Amino acid sequence: MYSRKMVLIFLLLLSFLLSCQPAKESGREDQKLRVIATIFPIYDFARNIGGDKIKVTMLLPPGTDAHHYELKPEDIVKVSKTDIFLFTNFEMEQWAYKIINAAEKNTNMLAIETGAGAVLLPLSEEGEEQNNHVSKFDPHIWLDMDNAQKMVDNIAAALIKKDSRNSDYYLKNAHNYKLKLIALDQRYRAELTRCKTKTILHAGHWAFAYLAKKYNLNYIAAYNVSADAEPSPQKMINLVQQVKSQRVAYIYYESMINPRLAQTIARETGAHLLKLNNGHDISKADIKSGETFISLMEKNLTNLKKGLQCP
Ligand SMILES: [Zn+2]
Repeated sequence: MYSRKMVLIFLLLLSFLLSCQPAKESGREDQKLRVIATIFPIYDFARNIGGDKIKVTMLLPPGTDAHHYELKPEDIVKVSKTDIFLFTNFEMEQWAYKIINAAEKNTNMLAIETGAGAVLLPLSEEGEEQNNHVSKFDPHIWLDMDNAQKMVDNIAAALIKKDSRNSDYYLKNAHNYKLKLIALDQRYRAELTRCKTKTILHAGHWAFAYLAKKYNLNYIAAYNVSADAEPSPQKMINLVQQVKSQRVAYIYYESMINPRLAQTIARETGAHLLKLNNGHDISKADIKSGETFISLMEKNLTNLKKGLQCP
């Protein structure tokens, strides 16, 4: 039998020994999972699912053109030190294979294609060449709320794979977040019916086809997915004609593309301008003001209702 005094001495000795342990993982004192997400929708999904159990950062800095991002050597170094690397798919981040190849040397890093299992829309017969890779599918999959839910599931599964002790926490957060996506989808469905026009005329790059298809709208964009070339004079004339013939009262523009084209069409046709956010265009100011994927999609819905003149 041990006396209480001996137990106390033992406990004191133990706590002393533990305090002498060198900080093995300095800088990881919080023991949070380190996650790097390429673009804003994935970053925002991850921070909603991971909550205070993860430390998530965005690989592409705010204000970056996601379709023309050039991977830097320091990105590969940064990602190879993380626990989980989240990307959309090889259509969106065509350079993701470079990170995955580098990570093969670091078996600790888990690379996850969050868009795996998503329903993809084809771009066109020939696809579109971007950095010598011919894109066959439209990469903006998160603008279909069903796909967004699939991405949430894939992210939750990745977190659980790395940190199974907190699986209940991740599953609960993922479930709650998916409820928000479902509610948003229902609002879109309900509020975008009986509109005066069904045409989204977008003086930006090809990004909203998923959204248009989901809610039975027509989509016309001035630029291709990578927005490489200015629209030809013929395309400009066609756009102006479509605005006039379909009595489009509002034209949509986006923050990352010079609004001059939208302004020119508006001037020619008397149409007004409204903004749409594709989810991957995120500015420093957006981050600072606390925008979320949901808040951006709510703003889009407000502007779609106004532009399409829905009751
Ligand atoms: Zn895009």
